[in-house]
Amino acid sequence: MRVGVLALQGAFAVHRRRLAELDVEAPAVRTVAQLAEVDALVVPGGESTTMSRLLATNGLFDPVAERIEAGMPVLGTCAGMILCATEVLDARPDQVPFGVIDLTVRRNGYGRQLASFEADLDVAGLDEPFRAVFIRAPKVERVGADVEVLAEHDGVPVLLRRRGCTVAAFHPELTPDGRVHRLFVESIEQR
Ligand code: GLN
Repeated sequence: MRVGVLALQGAFAVHRRRLAELDVEAPAVRTVAQLAEVDALVVPGGESTTMSRLLATNGLFDPVAERIEAGMPVLGTCAGMILCATEVLDARPDQVPFGVIDLTVRRNGYGRQLASFEADLDVAGLDEPFRAVFIRAPKVERVGADVEVLAEHDGVPVLLRRRGCTVAAFHPELTPDGRVHRLFVESIEQR
């Protein structure tokens, strides 16, 4: 299995490292040809407005949307979560999400004071808490009926899944703990 990492902008390099540590091939995806060679895709954290623009100017938005529509599993983290959601509040007007998981998220929803923080999360399927790093994270304001909540922080869902799509409001790649990536890889293998 090859899990591509969208490498237009943001924290893609560390995602590739985390996947490599799990012995998963994790090529960078910057072109339609590279997209065709992967079985799943990580959409990393960064700046969702910039990533959205780069997806369009690189001719990747429609091909990625078509692959997702056809069932390609996706892991979206932070800005990647924003790009996977169906509805984005405080978005830029030209910012179009893939709409693969029925969620309403608010960009930078934790506000200025809590712009960055860390928290230990109880994650469904993991025995020990996961140390999560939040950086100008999106806040989930509505969860669709068919979406599974895997972890919450202060009563707000921060790790969610619907079929092949897993999204995290935090940055699971920024700690050496590869367990969220492993959950994603296992969810693909079980399909
Ligand atoms: N606030 C960023 C955005 O709106 C996301 C931040 C992140 O990915 N760390 O895209």
